[in-house]
Amino acid sequence: MVGAVMAPPSSPLRFEPQPRAARDAFGRAMTYLRISLTDRCNFRCVYCMPALGMKFQPRDELLTDDELVRVVRLCAKTGFTKLRLTGGEPTIRPRIVELVRAMKATPGIEELSMTTNGLLLNRLADPLAGAGLDRVNISIDTLDPDKFKLMTRGGRLDLVWQGIEAADAAGLRPIKLNTVVMRGQNDAEVGEMAALTLANAWQVRFLEIMPLEGVGAVHDEGLVTSEETQERLEARFGPLTPVEVPPGDPARVWRIPGAVGTVGFISPVSAPFCAACNRVRLTADGKLRLCLLRPDEVDLRDLMRAGADDAALELQMRAGIWRKPWGHGLAEGERETVRGMSQIGG
Ligand code: SAM
Ligand code: SF4
Repeated sequence: MVGAVMAPPSSPLRFEPQPRAARDAFGRAMTYLRISLTDRCNFRCVYCMPALGMKFQPRDELLTDDELVRVVRLCAKTGFTKLRLTGGEPTIRPRIVELVRAMKATPGIEELSMTTNGLLLNRLADPLAGAGLDRVNISIDTLDPDKFKLMTRGGRLDLVWQGIEAADAAGLRPIKLNTVVMRGQNDAEVGEMAALTLANAWQVRFLEIMPLEGVGAVHDEGLVTSEETQERLEARFGPLTPVEVPPGDPARVWRIPGAVGTVGFISPVSAPFCAACNRVRLTADGKLRLCLLRPDEVDLRDLMRAGADDAALELQMRAGIWRKPWGHGLAEGERETVRGMSQIGG
């Protein structure tokens, strides 16, 4: 079953620059910025990048460290309190530990987390935690080394597993594991993934695959809805118990009877969470992307490189946030055909 986005309120408000937290025209406060540090990656996951023809941006088109820290400072001034570093693979960004330290030291930033494939966490978890990183989400789609190699097009599961253990030992908790469920690849294994929560205080989250640029056909063949995944889990473990989550969390969270950890379902296709959206994205090339799946962006990089002062940048950010689209149209069959997940920052 595919769900529809809840209809927007009928009369959006008029734009006026606000003194504090930036809100959109529907009254949603934006407090959460997801930052893509690079569009490059050391994996090539089948649901994220096409096998061939992936083009990466020249390095001088990416934001510099100083530009990134400046945007973070302005976002904090505009009411953002939470940052997530993503990509591409954020851990391959040069000087990642120093960047984390500078971002976490920004007044107003309360929480700094990262989504990573975990490959480099074995050596980076400790320094990142020391620099102020609060927690990590690690993507892992299967516990079978051969399947892992196929789904990531060459990745080594043993190294990612070491990364998960290193993150746990470094206190980057609560650890969340992201699993994109794909028909015929790892859908029969969701029970094994969920069983990790029996003895570990982790959250294993099952994601529906989205049709972004380069993976539209993979989505069409591979989509498994959260409903189906949940049915599989309940057939194995019995009824799951609902767990309350903070507002703005895109996951619906449950517990297997007797488990220490939890399982979550992220369902952008079958149950969009647009009504509660509190996030915008910063692409690696410096565009403030207002919705993951809509093309409207504010070009902060070009404004900065043209000499815009902080007041002008803040005004453009607030005006962009004001026009944030109400929601995406995945349920109606719309898809993103310009940028891929690794370019936008998933
Ligand atoms: N490289 C890091 C990683 O894999 O965790 C961060 C970037 S990745 C784009 C962020 C998240 O997006 C990952 O959890 C990944 O599984 C998810 N993702 C990538 N492509 C997706 C797609 N087409 N549909 C749903 N989730 C996707
Ligand atoms: Fe790389 Fe993450 Fe995309 Fe996989 S999902 S190719 S690890 S950016």
